[in-house]
Amino acid sequence: MPAHICNACGTQFPPSETAPARCPICDDERQFVPPGGQSWTTHEALARSHFNCFRQHEPGLIGIGTVPSFAIGQRALLLATDKGNVLWDCISLVDDATVAIVEGLGGLIGIAISHPHYYSSMVQWAHAFDAPIHLHAGDREWVMRPDPAIEFWDGDTLSLADGVTLIRCGGHFAGGTVLHWAQGGERRGALLSGDIVQVIPDRKFVSFMRSYPNLIPLSAPAVERIGALLAPYPFDVIHGAWFDRTIPRGGKEIVQRSIERYVAAVRGDGTAELR
Ligand SMILES: [Zn+2]
Ligand SMILES: [Zn+2]
Repeated sequence: MPAHICNACGTQFPPSETAPARCPICDDERQFVPPGGQSWTTHEALARSHFNCFRQHEPGLIGIGTVPSFAIGQRALLLATDKGNVLWDCISLVDDATVAIVEGLGGLIGIAISHPHYYSSMVQWAHAFDAPIHLHAGDREWVMRPDPAIEFWDGDTLSLADGVTLIRCGGHFAGGTVLHWAQGGERRGALLSGDIVQVIPDRKFVSFMRSYPNLIPLSAPAVERIGALLAPYPFDVIHGAWFDRTIPRGGKEIVQRSIERYVAAVRGDGTAELR
């Protein structure tokens, strides 16, 4: 039986004869059902029409994305640690070439994902590499394909390897997580930020939203908490959710200044807008 994949968000569901009636990830106010309605594919069909591409962002960090772009279009990151490779975030396609290439690089010791929009085909990846999936328990309800490979963690941080720490920031999702890589950014530190700290087109700021497609903001306290949770961690580089969303320098200062800009905007008294 095929494990159906939602064309809109890329989430894979448990194997079934017929496609699911709906996609709860797309039905949620943070995502959307396209105007033409919900549609589905399978991993087999996706592997015939698409393939994965690879790009090294910096030594020890290789992006893996799907071409042509599929669903939300994020790319995953293969991070080399002292214990072995960690896959940060995930994509819907894990084709034969990807398995061969990642195995050739040493396989995976684990998969960690920032939030449910990137859960995608995580279970198929976990099975391909016999690796556990680390998800924050705050987003347990958004797992569409339960599997013994999924391990939920609680609290604010989880260490995956030396200098590799998951930090649960919340915000966009209750369990929204970023990955701090102390040796990244040529040892100046790097933040792998998913949608939780969103790199925006000018690369001079980041932003924070409950829903990006539906333009629903977060509260000021939620964004200030993200700043407080990141405060202890030095980083200069931010690798966002897409190949081209990287801030090469000044990441820490940019996050701080972006939080200040955001909080001023949502706490404003309307002086600027109500003239
Ligand atoms: Zn969906
Ligand atoms: Zn998202």
